[in-house]
Amino acid sequence: MKINIVKPFLPSLSELETEFTECLKSGMVTNNSQYVRELESNLHKFYKSNLKPLTFSNGEMALFSLIQAYKLKLGYGPLDSFDVLVPSFTFAGTINAILMNNLRPVFCDVDGGFTLDIKKLNSNYSSLIDDLDPYIPNIKLMVCVGAYGNLPNIDLVRKFSEENDIKVIFDNAPAFGSTYKNKFTCNHGFSEIYSFHASKIFSTMEGGGAITNDPDIHNSLIKLRDFGQYEKVRGNVDVPGLNSKMQEISALVGIKNLEKVDFILNNRKNNIERYKEFFGSKENSEFFNVMDVSTDVDCTYLYYPIVLKEEATPFVNYMQDNNIMVRRYYTAVHELDLYKNKYMSLDLSYTNEIKDKVVSIPIHTIMKNEEMDYLFETVNNFFKNEKSTS
Ligand SMILES: *Cc1c(COP(=O)(O)O)cnc(C)c1O
Repeated sequence: MKINIVKPFLPSLSELETEFTECLKSGMVTNNSQYVRELESNLHKFYKSNLKPLTFSNGEMALFSLIQAYKLKLGYGPLDSFDVLVPSFTFAGTINAILMNNLRPVFCDVDGGFTLDIKKLNSNYSSLIDDLDPYIPNIKLMVCVGAYGNLPNIDLVRKFSEENDIKVIFDNAPAFGSTYKNKFTCNHGFSEIYSFHASKIFSTMEGGGAITNDPDIHNSLIKLRDFGQYEKVRGNVDVPGLNSKMQEISALVGIKNLEKVDFILNNRKNNIERYKEFFGSKENSEFFNVMDVSTDVDCTYLYYPIVLKEEATPFVNYMQDNNIMVRRYYTAVHELDLYKNKYMSLDLSYTNEIKDKVVSIPIHTIMKNEEMDYLFETVNNFFKNEKSTS
């Protein structure tokens, strides 16, 4: 038996055939055509957001454009700079979207939920900033990350944002379907992006979405994803947008997948229950810890992360040898070549403690009981047999 790290959930060709044939015949394959508009309307119903969600070519470009929109709204030009708080424990895509806006990341710690340690920021912000001395940061924006679908305490995020006059946006690329106090992040008043990549929970193959309640940001995003054009006939531009429009085949895949969103989320919920029962058991707590998820959060778990008591290589190798494709994800990006020793960090003690011990276990939308049994049995075998004899 082989269990891949992801198993994309996608419609069959026959579900797309009629509509896609029409697209090809009419030549209307991109540029905010029928199916992109229909997907955005359907996402609007799903999110019940104030403003319509906007689709993008991928999650990173949605994030890049959202950061750019905030930068412009704050009165900065494209080549101006300021500092941005962001967890180190994320995907490089988060950081690159900041860097390519000519902004400077200031890496922050996460807590046991693997999202930004907002309690630490709220209670110690000035002393954490003082630790950067002699550097005096000009922090205008914070990017929270919905790692593995988990969300931080959004009430504390709001408090921090208001008290320190720092705008907050969410890279919820991995967090499709997750809620805090039964509401999506956007309905708590924050702008957020999602990835609709094939590896994510809801997929358009490649794709992304941005949702904001702020009409200025919304209008800015519509321009930015279309080269910055605000006047179509002459193609006049007033901001340097990068083309990042979704095209029709992705939108069609999205429409079909969104029709099955209850099925997707319910299946995941059932699988998550089984994982929690196994990985969260008392016997297993001597070998690893699981992600802290607040009772306020309904987490859709893109992967099931565990933190081993030791460096993860032997466990990772054992799982791979048994055809279970685990992943060392996320990681502490402040240590990756591109960023190492180049950008500021606040205290990262928890991130540094876990970075070599975290393993992501696959959890698919469609998963047979036998696959889960095999996965749990293999984990058991590593800890109960292999380890004691090695
Ligand atoms: C997947 C992911 C992205 C990238 O999304 P794409 O759609 O692949 O561009 C960015 N940030 C985080 C945290 C992610 O998990």
